[in-house]
Amino acid sequence: MQEFAIEASGLRVRYPGTEADAVAGIDLAVAPGEIFGLLGPNGAGKTTTQHVLTGQLRRYEGRAAVLGRPVGEWGPALYQRIGVGFELPAHFPKLTARENLAAFAALYDGPVLPVRDALAAVSLTDVADRRAADLSKGMKMRLNLARALLHRPDVLFLDEPTSGLDPANAADVRAIVAEQAAAGRTVFLTTHDMTAADELCDRVAFMHEGRFAAVDTPRALKLAHGHGTVVAEYAENGDLRRAEYASTAVPDLRRLLATGTVETLHTREASLADVFIAVTGRRL
Ligand code: ATP
Repeated sequence: MQEFAIEASGLRVRYPGTEADAVAGIDLAVAPGEIFGLLGPNGAGKTTTQHVLTGQLRRYEGRAAVLGRPVGEWGPALYQRIGVGFELPAHFPKLTARENLAAFAALYDGPVLPVRDALAAVSLTDVADRRAADLSKGMKMRLNLARALLHRPDVLFLDEPTSGLDPANAADVRAIVAEQAAAGRTVFLTTHDMTAADELCDRVAFMHEGRFAAVDTPRALKLAHGHGTVVAEYAENGDLRRAEYASTAVPDLRRLLATGTVETLHTREASLADVFIAVTGRRL
């Protein structure tokens, strides 16, 4: 097995007729089986990076390699080895979920998952015979994932897989992605969803203006850049009040505790969104 599933060094993209690099020299190395997340505001360069790595954008400088081979050398064989789940809609609306997957399965030369297994992997068995147009947004997103999984790819590229989903559907999608990584697939995703980044990703890269401002595990990023706080609820003149203290403000907190009015006390960890602001000076 090659050392890295995905590699880039000095990767740079400038779209014709534009003044600035959309991707301004990034380096990354993603290990097999890792879930790697790209986080950044609109226009940071996330989709452009994915388009290079999935062979959809050929004009770039630097190195971009998938499964040990430069993207430009792969040709169509790349699409037997990677699964791509990009923006919706990506189905034939008049065909059922089952017919959609059968149609996409027919496009692959190599072995593919039986359609019923692909449906089961994303919990769509019960609606297999419903037209894609009549599926809920969460179901469509899962159908999109099933399509990306059909040919048992080694690497999955997902663009905003939980975007626009309610918390329950987003949790379902996160669980499916986690299962795929547990089965040995490498996952490279872009997201604005902090829960997805935090819970799912082994490492995240903060992308800002085409560059990586930080790359690490969510935990290490929070420890290095985030400041937890302590939130106290206390009674004052019959009202319940709330105060938040930086974890360095121990004397203030001690003073409040000494009043004997504190009813609840809990710590609030820094979120990745807080850390993003600390590192880039920008809100996600
Ligand atoms: P989003 O979260 O909105 O999808 P992103 O981080 O994926 O944003 P990109 O879509 O990669 O960002 O865009 C990076 C930069 O490149 C932006 O400034 C964007 O305007 C520019 N850009 C993207 N596609 C093109 C294009 N086809 N031609 C010219 N400029 C482009």
